[in-house]
Amino acid sequence: MKTGIHPKYYTATVKCACGETFPVGSTREKIEVEICSKCHPFYTGTQRLIDTAGKVERFRERRAKAAALPTKKKKVRAKKQSRVKKEIR
Ligand SMILES: [Zn+2]
Repeated sequence: MKTGIHPKYYTATVKCACGETFPVGSTREKIEVEICSKCHPFYTGTQRLIDTAGKVERFRERRAKAAALPTKKKKVRAKKQSRVKKEIR
């Protein structure tokens, strides 16, 4: 191993939003995750998804905001359509 180029290697403790902790080799001392094999639906076999980080709520808020905004006119499309019409003639 070449000296002076490798980062420090830790046995990091991964903390999940569900409360699960487990050790893993990493260059970071602490790792925080939102989902792990103890709570992910793929491993639990249930459809239930824990939304501890409020991701779903934030997404819904964002979509509601976007829906309230006035829709932009598509100038580019209109321009292109007129050009295409000219070319067809
Ligand atoms: Zn988890």
